[in-house]
Amino acid sequence: MGISTDYDMVIVGAGPAGMAAAIYGSRMGWRTLVLDKGAVGGLAATTPIIENYPGFSEITGMEFAERLRKQAEKFGATIQELVEVTDIECDKLPIKVITTSGEFSAKVVIIATGTYHRHLNVIGESDFDGKGVSYCATCDGALYAHEKVAVIGGGNSAVTEALYLDNVVRKVYLIHRRDALRAEESLQKQILNNSKVEFIWNSVIEEIEGNEFDGVKRLRIKNVKTEEEDSLRVKAVFIAIGIIPNNELAKKIGINLTENGLIIVDKNQRTNIPRIYAAGDITPGQGQISVAVGEGTTAAISAFLDMKGGDWYGQETSTG
Ligand code: NAP
Repeated sequence: MGISTDYDMVIVGAGPAGMAAAIYGSRMGWRTLVLDKGAVGGLAATTPIIENYPGFSEITGMEFAERLRKQAEKFGATIQELVEVTDIECDKLPIKVITTSGEFSAKVVIIATGTYHRHLNVIGESDFDGKGVSYCATCDGALYAHEKVAVIGGGNSAVTEALYLDNVVRKVYLIHRRDALRAEESLQKQILNNSKVEFIWNSVIEEIEGNEFDGVKRLRIKNVKTEEEDSLRVKAVFIAIGIIPNNELAKKIGINLTENGLIIVDKNQRTNIPRIYAAGDITPGQGQISVAVGEGTTAAISAFLDMKGGDWYGQETSTG
């Protein structure tokens, strides 16, 4: 298969980091292509409400994703969704990006492949995936408008999901394996003081029970302190217990990773491979959209400067 299209910058991943890189790359006049095996917005698009992105006191993840798309396209970026990058040949120039939809050439590549939802790995989780087991309250919450549901986890995601569901469904149980949340203070205040969410502390899910016809019917829960078991009737369970890096591509092409599987970058978002940059949740950081956007911006600008051998604002741009 011959190379079908030439680009200056190919960005793998259309989450906030990748889209920020696309906005900057295309606005600098670079032919810019964004590829994503899913849709624009990444995990941020599945966030019910974003309320800590500067300039937006409240915006849904879906609307935020749509705005990113429009802004990147306005400057001429090409976005291809449902296209998976399977390999990158970067030993000679131009770099060849091999995908499920053909091959592309690039001067530089930015990897912004983000993360995916961690699974509980309990009995019933995979059997009822899509039939009551969900990892996205925004996507599936409305299906359970008159039902009782559970959210699992104690971090920012679990609390954000539970707060959203509290307004959508009949009843929300938040099940956490400890007796305290690890979510940020303002989210904790909202859920502990202002919501109807009922907490089930110190508890883990042993099994998700149901049948093929009805989907999820109940959860078998164990209190980790008392070892007591209990059964909780719910129609759905939303699992929000953390994220795992999408690093298969990075591994395949020999990019250096941390022990947690995140891409190691320098302060200009360069990886150990020349002309390959990385940004967003696939790199070590705080898991914030604003940070991902900043890193995507830095990656695009430093790639541009590295190629031009240029110097903006007196910055050091050497790759050496
Ligand atoms: P997280 O911060 O890593 O929290 C994961 C939670 O799930 C923890 O409470 C953890 O319990 C629990 N957990 C992990 N494995 C478990 C298991 N096998 N069984 C039961 N519980 C388990 O992950 P997250 O909340 O998904 O957030 C991911 C990233 O996105 C974070 O960097 C977060 O800050 C960011 N995020 C930010 C916002 C925001 O800024 N508003 C919103 C959403 C996400 P322990 O507490 O016991 O470890």
